[in-house]
Amino acid sequence: VPRGRVWVEKIDGKIVKLFRNQGAAAISKAADEGRVAETSRKDAVGEIRKQVFERSGGECEYCGKIVTYQTGHMHEVVPKGKGGDVSLYNCVFICYSCHLGSPNAAHANRRINWTPKPD
Ligand SMILES: [Zn+2]
Ligand SMILES: [Zn+2]
Repeated sequence: VPRGRVWVEKIDGKIVKLFRNQGAAAISKAADEGRVAETSRKDAVGEIRKQVFERSGGECEYCGKIVTYQTGHMHEVVPKGKGGDVSLYNCVFICYSCHLGSPNAAHANRRINWTPKPD
């Protein structure tokens, strides 16, 4: 697969998930059912983001604050390093504060890791 291309799962013609690699796509149930396609990563992520935003109804899925397609953040609940994928199932549309900008934010723990631990 050339750089910037990904394998995706489609349901009713809409992209619902990006596979991690071609191998993962090949062994999926979606492949058996002819619902796998190759496309550009940019388009695939954009299509997921659009659907996740629509599902949110314009409100942060964590705190309910108003978000727009531009101001909201798409967050992967299970991180890539722990087996998570970019998909409708693993992504939520949340506000900046819930994502990065508060002590209880989704990524707050990652930043705390930079702080030296007290003895
Ligand atoms: Zn929020
Ligand atoms: Zn995130």
